[in-house]
Amino acid sequence: MSNSGKVEALIPRCLFSIENSDNLSIDFEDLSSVSISWENGFVSELKPLKTENKKPNNILFPRFVEAHSHIDKSFTWDKFPNLRSNYDGALSVNLEEHKTRTTKKVLERAEKSLNLAIQNGYRAIRSHIDTYQHQGNDVWTELFKLQKKYSSKLQLQFVALSPLEFWQTENGKKLAKKLSIQKGILGGVVVPPFNKRETSKLLSKMLLLADKYKLEIDLHIDESTTEPGAGVKVLLEVMDKLKIQVPITCSHLSSILFLKEHEILDLGKKLADKNIKVVALPLTNFWLLNHKSKITALKRPVAPIKQLQKSFVDVSVGSDNVQDPWYPFGNFDPFYMMSCSIPMLQLNPWERKTLSSIFFAPSRLLNLKWDGLIKKGCPADFVILDAQRWADVFSSNLKRKVFIKGDLYC
Ligand SMILES: [Zn+2]
Repeated sequence: MSNSGKVEALIPRCLFSIENSDNLSIDFEDLSSVSISWENGFVSELKPLKTENKKPNNILFPRFVEAHSHIDKSFTWDKFPNLRSNYDGALSVNLEEHKTRTTKKVLERAEKSLNLAIQNGYRAIRSHIDTYQHQGNDVWTELFKLQKKYSSKLQLQFVALSPLEFWQTENGKKLAKKLSIQKGILGGVVVPPFNKRETSKLLSKMLLLADKYKLEIDLHIDESTTEPGAGVKVLLEVMDKLKIQVPITCSHLSSILFLKEHEILDLGKKLADKNIKVVALPLTNFWLLNHKSKITALKRPVAPIKQLQKSFVDVSVGSDNVQDPWYPFGNFDPFYMMSCSIPMLQLNPWERKTLSSIFFAPSRLLNLKWDGLIKKGCPADFVILDAQRWADVFSSNLKRKVFIKGDLYC
């Protein structure tokens, strides 16, 4: 059978569950030697491997989940570079790009992104899509067709990213209704400086709209160096006032790093109480925020993952932009994202919490059927590397094989 197979591999201990863990050999970097078999696209056997003689030459991971991306604008850097490399520059170049944007261009960028993502090892992606008042009407229809077209290889989830005001307009309300049928998500931006009263009013209306259509919300919030946590504080106040349960994701939440340690932990508790999830986006944050032309500023905010996890907040690490005005690099490659983020954020790859933020939290965020834990009966969706240690995983000449439902994809 083509969708069956067997491999001897190392798997990080926290990424699999095994019936008989006696005789399981685990090395100092928490990599366990196992023999894994699959039939008809599902794992049929997982057992400890005796490694007296030698360690397997492969490291196996579940296929990855991208918690936050922008496939509508990826690869626009060549025509719309932001050579100042700061947030304001990115925003103004992004608005220039909108003037030339067509549905055809969006679809071309999206397909290029998805093909790369599958090839590099992703199984699901949440992408924000710039949404504005005078946008062509057919873009959403075409995007939902694309979602269906790729569904056997990759699960795609869309967030309509717009100014908060949009959700008060007739077009905004119509789109919300459409998103409720297609399981889309409402998006927006809350970044200081802003008028607190006005923002609070707009957020209330957005939450009520989401509640009406049973939609989730994913906000670009507090992606700034000033007024630490100003956006999330307004959001929490609005939620307390409305007393409604809308699933909310806070993407970025970078500036809260500048709060005092106990304030971060308190805020974390409030987020966890309301089941608000966080997506940390170190690549764009480190690139854009506090970017100075004449000096290197090392004070760069990013969501404080460890403190938030300590407060029981479900934190995912995502990639964000790829080769667009917001970030000139990247290639929809989870190993590029990990190679940059893990040293940057001082996360140990041999610790459960680190791998949880890369594999399990994004699977929960996207409400995927499979949480990514490898065990008997799970899908045979793997990325297998020619590697024996973490240093090999984060090397530049990575050799990988991607298996989708038990079949070798590439
Ligand atoms: Zn983003």
